[in-house]
Amino acid sequence: MTLLGVDGLTVHFRIRRGLLKRSDDVVHAVDDVSLAVAPGETLALVGESGCGKSTVARAVLQLVKPTSGNISFMGQDLAGLKGSARRALRRDAQVVFQDPYSSLNPRMTVHSLVAEPLRANAKLSGRELEDRVLSLLEMVGLGTQHLWRRPHEFSGGQCQRIAIARALALEPKLVVLDEPTSALDVSVQARILVLLHELQQRLGLAYLFIAHDLAVVQSVAQSVAVMYLGQVAEQGPAADVFGDPRHPYTVALLDSSPSPDPEARATMRVLEGNVPSAIRPPQGCRFHPRCRFRMPVCEREYPTPHRLGARMIACHLPDDFDLARPDVHGPVQETTAIAD
Ligand code: SF4
Repeated sequence: MTLLGVDGLTVHFRIRRGLLKRSDDVVHAVDDVSLAVAPGETLALVGESGCGKSTVARAVLQLVKPTSGNISFMGQDLAGLKGSARRALRRDAQVVFQDPYSSLNPRMTVHSLVAEPLRANAKLSGRELEDRVLSLLEMVGLGTQHLWRRPHEFSGGQCQRIAIARALALEPKLVVLDEPTSALDVSVQARILVLLHELQQRLGLAYLFIAHDLAVVQSVAQSVAVMYLGQVAEQGPAADVFGDPRHPYTVALLDSSPSPDPEARATMRVLEGNVPSAIRPPQGCRFHPRCRFRMPVCEREYPTPHRLGARMIACHLPDDFDLARPDVHGPVQETTAIAD
């Protein structure tokens, strides 16, 4: 069963410059992305900044309009919904943003912040409202002593707990977590991840977890989609993608991920070069200017995604290609330089 289905999602933004606001430039933020999230499951969307993962999340939350493709939630096509049906569905999909300080109104108390969505959407008596606010705060590890304080009186981790309580107020089915721990200290990150896991077990929540840090995602996700320059490079069960990555970009991301293990650090390989411009993405495979396995065909033809078990991989390399041994493929081919 699918809770959230994204099918062929494409989001392009036209850039308008100058007095007449004319331009033919188009940012290819997301191109033909398909995903599925089951109830109670965590799907992680990972990639470097600019890969389009946050745009996918915004399209799911109906904050940007898709150029083409379909998004369905709880069996309903979002594009076909209007008025109260659209608002009702939006209550079932909530978001927690990266920076807890900027996502909370600094003038509001914790009580007002958590009560606000309930006042706007739920018909509760005064007593019921108070009980619900308190139970939400207790759910995220806060209590009555925090009710009348404002965000600036809390640490980043506590503010993120308030943001999570607020997101859970309307009992959503799906929570979009947009880099929810990347602005926090490492020790606080771990506590927030444990809290999110406990809430998922208790409430049966599904998460769309946006992250650039693979170490964070590895511990929480059942499925992973690795994005590069607006497209999905590799997608499938987290154990397969992290345990036996088959796309050179996934391998490069894992190789360049910082590790506390000194032995792993010794073999760490930095992913060279920058993500090319999304206004003029490279022809063929978009990763080819940075790929150490590129072949002439990679510069000409987009690799049609193919299945390997439960996984989808968009690469011209054969499935049995040994990504750990670049020598088996011979020297890297010369390629056209791509302007950033
Ligand atoms: Fe590398 Fe070619 Fe595969 Fe792209 S299609 S990741 S350039 S080998």
